[in-house]
Amino acid sequence: MTGLYERDKRSLSTLSNLRFFPQSITGGKGSYLIAEDGRRLLDFSASWGAASLGHSHPALAAAVAGALKDQAGASHLSTANLPAVELAEKLLALVPDRAAGRVWLGHSGSDANETVARAVLAATGRSRILSFKGAYHGGTSGSMAVSGHPVQQGVPKAAGLSLIPFPDGYRDGGEAAAAQAALDHLRALLDGPVPPNEVAALFLEPIQSDGGMIVPPDGYFQEVEALCRRHGILIVADEVKVGLGRSGRFHAFEHLGIQPDIVVFGKGLGGGLPVSAAVGPEAIMNHSAAFSFQTVHGNPVCAAAAKAVLETIERDSLVEQAAEVGLHLKGLLERLQEKHALVGDVRGRGLALGVELVTDRQTKEAAKTATALTVYRAFELGLILYYVGVSSNVLEFTPPLTLTKEEATAGVALLDQALSDVAAGRVDQKKVAAFAGW
Ligand SMILES: *Cc1c(COP(=O)(O)O)cnc(C)c1O
Repeated sequence: MTGLYERDKRSLSTLSNLRFFPQSITGGKGSYLIAEDGRRLLDFSASWGAASLGHSHPALAAAVAGALKDQAGASHLSTANLPAVELAEKLLALVPDRAAGRVWLGHSGSDANETVARAVLAATGRSRILSFKGAYHGGTSGSMAVSGHPVQQGVPKAAGLSLIPFPDGYRDGGEAAAAQAALDHLRALLDGPVPPNEVAALFLEPIQSDGGMIVPPDGYFQEVEALCRRHGILIVADEVKVGLGRSGRFHAFEHLGIQPDIVVFGKGLGGGLPVSAAVGPEAIMNHSAAFSFQTVHGNPVCAAAAKAVLETIERDSLVEQAAEVGLHLKGLLERLQEKHALVGDVRGRGLALGVELVTDRQTKEAAKTATALTVYRAFELGLILYYVGVSSNVLEFTPPLTLTKEEATAGVALLDQALSDVAAGRVDQKKVAAFAGW
């Protein structure tokens, strides 16, 4: 019998592969995935945060079964359907007043960001967009066009896009210096080549996740917000990865002390099903009909799943749990930093954490190879963990919001072992070389 991973290789395109080790999964429950060989793998990624309630959550299973038992069509393009309306009403109640206009529903963070990028230009009549170097807003042409992540080098950018530096306290000389330099850069841009009255919107990630789980310095985004308000620039908070409780607050932008005009949700919103949402002012979100749609947008099954996710987050106090377990996990990771020279920085909020690996704590040279070896070895030991970062050297922790402290402790023990094995040269580089990662 051929193994699942081989069958995947022989049948599925690699175009969407982002593989770090030969993971083949046949099931899962809670924070654990079941591998084809029967191993239980502790999932510290939750499929990049998408499986926000863990795997096989009963509330999600019930919502999906219920929606399919009495299926309100497949779409909301040409009909109102009950689950889509209920989800939209719920989302409107959750965002700040200035964003609580109308909800657009999609399949992914990518289609939501792409729609917002098009709608802000069309509705404001302005031609420019600001976003950050290192930002990941999606993998479709229109969302890549407003992203700044190096994995998308060579992909055409939007004509009016300017990429600005995201302040990185670890690499840019501390929080205050990083914030000042980034603000100086933005002000110089708006005083010169980028007339602010031509800028429709600024896209931001409250924690720059795929860029390296970079937490912006305190106060930085309040200054950015003030600049945007002065010039009528809309603020788009991309909460796709770190929103909906993951950061230890309901919205990750709450940590920044700002109020975005448009909020984009994805990943964890569906608890593992494909659904996204963009929530913003009526003037933008009702710009015109038939502007941005795909056939099964507003799908009632996915909408019912998302509603169940939001209800479960509330009912089970998962925002508080993410804050508490996240603090515990971060503490354990800081202990690893004391023990392993490879660990340069531990950062993040709630259950959105990053561990940056460096070859030398003084020069902070990215330990790219060691990072690939670490996640590979962790997988062999039973822990699922991927990496991010513009230099591919930041371990990313986005476990299910339902993760327990005991599970966090068990996972860090595996990571501890993996780091020791990498430092001691006990991981086979040849096996890892087959995985390009990103
Ligand atoms: C993953 C991600 C996206 C894109 O979401 P997809 O579901 O992959 O389309 C957009 N923004 C951020 C911040 C993300 O992390």
